[in-house]
Amino acid sequence: MLYLETPANPTLQCVDLAALGALAKKYNCLVACDNTFATPYLQQPFAHGADFIIHSTTKFLNGHGTAIGGILLGKDVERMKTSIGKFFRTTGACASPFDAYLLTQGIKTLEVRMDKHCNNAEQVAAFLENHPAVAKVNYTGLSSHPDHAISAKQMRHPGALLSFELKKGLQGGIDFMNKLQFCVRAVSLGTCDTLLSHPASMTHFSVPKEEKEKYGITDGLIRMHVGIETAADIIADLHQALQ
Ligand SMILES: *Cc1c(COP(=O)(O)O)cnc(C)c1O
Repeated sequence: MLYLETPANPTLQCVDLAALGALAKKYNCLVACDNTFATPYLQQPFAHGADFIIHSTTKFLNGHGTAIGGILLGKDVERMKTSIGKFFRTTGACASPFDAYLLTQGIKTLEVRMDKHCNNAEQVAAFLENHPAVAKVNYTGLSSHPDHAISAKQMRHPGALLSFELKKGLQGGIDFMNKLQFCVRAVSLGTCDTLLSHPASMTHFSVPKEEKEKYGITDGLIRMHVGIETAADIIADLHQALQ
């Protein structure tokens, strides 16, 4: 099985779904795609040869950070009803009624939320790209991103995730995170709120430097999920925290 994630954490690297779908077909290989970052609104991997799609419903599908969950979609309905359905039933991987209720409420506003997330992310990316304290912005909506063309080909919009590198490295990242007042210091994504994390001092603190750099995690890298607040409020907080 070819297992893909596009766009991927934390550099927003994208892979060409149609090209890899064709390659997998040539070798008679199944394709599974984690579509959590994009959501079904921005990207539909079945149209590009995927056999399975995985979403963490904890993120944009629920949309409010109120319940954890996940979903597996299969193109082959018969297979989903038989072998995979049997596995699902016997392992008990189902949501509680209340979590399912929160998901079905949240998912109704997916499209309107995504439009706002995406619009805000564009404004935030443009602000960061022009800020003197920022060395680099990873956002596929910017023509400077190496996967700009792949993202434009297979996604409706580049989405609401981005990362950026502070010129002042590790200490710059720590200082920036401590100054945030409006945006939230948290991992995860897909909530109404803007979430930021500093992998080098948080999630990847204990990972050796060479290994971190192999995945594009530099000391000054900040990961950002752009929420659906008023864009000017998000930008004002970034502005003061970057001083
Ligand atoms: C969060 C996330 C997961 C895991 O989902 P949980 O609901 O947190 O278990 C898997 N893939 C991607 C891309 C994610 O962002």
